[in-house]
Amino acid sequence: MTPRATLLTHASQLLMLQGSAAPRRGPAMTDLGIIEDGAVLIKDGRITAAGTTDELRPHSKNTEEIDCRNKVVLPGFVDSHTHPVFATPRLIDFEKRVAGASYEEIAAAGGGIRASIHGVRESSADKLAHHVLHALNEMSAYGTTTVEAKSGYGLDLASELRSLEAIRQAAQHWQGTLVPTLLGAHVVPPEFRDNPDEYVRIVCDEMIPAAARPVPQSLSRARRGIRAPQLGANLGNDTPQKLAAYVDVFCERGAFTPEQSLRILRAAVAHGLKTRIHVGQLTHTALELFSEFHCASFDHLDNLSDADIAWLARTDTVATLLPAANYFLGLTTFPPARKLIDSGVAVALATDYNPGTSPTTSMPFVMSVASTHMKMSPAEAIAAATINGACALDLQHKKGSLEPGKDADIAIFDAQDYREIPYWFGVNRCSKTILGGRY
Ligand SMILES: [Zn+2]
Repeated sequence: MTPRATLLTHASQLLMLQGSAAPRRGPAMTDLGIIEDGAVLIKDGRITAAGTTDELRPHSKNTEEIDCRNKVVLPGFVDSHTHPVFATPRLIDFEKRVAGASYEEIAAAGGGIRASIHGVRESSADKLAHHVLHALNEMSAYGTTTVEAKSGYGLDLASELRSLEAIRQAAQHWQGTLVPTLLGAHVVPPEFRDNPDEYVRIVCDEMIPAAARPVPQSLSRARRGIRAPQLGANLGNDTPQKLAAYVDVFCERGAFTPEQSLRILRAAVAHGLKTRIHVGQLTHTALELFSEFHCASFDHLDNLSDADIAWLARTDTVATLLPAANYFLGLTTFPPARKLIDSGVAVALATDYNPGTSPTTSMPFVMSVASTHMKMSPAEAIAAATINGACALDLQHKKGSLEPGKDADIAIFDAQDYREIPYWFGVNRCSKTILGGRY
């Protein structure tokens, strides 16, 4: 049972990351707003004050106190790119890749994304929701409090909607915030291999309208033990009656062409859904092509031109980098984080949690890879995993920093210095996660 008011006291370092209505860029990414002997007051799921323990303690009568001595307290991580709706791990792909096959060779042999389709098509929403919830609980154990979750392994109308329903069901059993995304345009499923434009038509004319329609009563029924008013309350979706907040598309050789991607994103806008894109993972696509959408985020961005970077720096679109995928694919190249940050692009980090290329739920691991392989400083990695991730989901008004009025989404690490968070890898130093004031 969580009390109405909670006071965290004596944090070795409290990282406030305050003052961010827009994504952090350049040198501002290193300004974490560190307070020593820090304290945070939480009431009714929100942060009501943050400062030093001496400042806050007199205002905290009748509160439960959590002693955070020898702990770093920071905003909960925002994992703004995940694919949690799948049935089984892809162990054959893993073994083949270790033996030397490339991502594209595995896909051409029937592995890759297409290998996950069968399991999702055969699974009930309840079974998929069970898998999603398992991943969410792992994520929050590592300090994550907000997660963007994509469909994308069903790839027919019924299976994509069932995947979104599984995300919705899981959200009802998790205390964090979920942002649902339709990724019907993940790859062209095998039955449309000879007619990909017909599949694009189905995404535009059937999947997107269905994901944007108010959820039928049969889908939004209260689960056992869940009170009806809570339904959708923790979906970080301005219109929680819809199954999806965003539409995403994998614009890539072997997936969808730029022209097909434009059709899909235009259909999303026409139905009132927001947009984000997987782009530049394997090959280059000029980003300015997508300027009309004012996308919340472009994701991956391993292949970029100087013109892309200069254009991105002038936009509010966040560059979401997913270096755990490069790590797991055994690549020696990584997205050009240093160049992006030094050019003024807003950079976020996310896990890309998925069964083929990034089976990790750990944001601290991603931050560690960002520092060791992309040369992001520990401070930049923290800003990218918190406030800039919130901006990548249009949630910066309530997530990503420890400021009065924001949701009490807080990670507490067993460390005395924030640099320890990306430093210790392969172990979990997160000792407590507070999700909307609950823990
Ligand atoms: Zn992805």
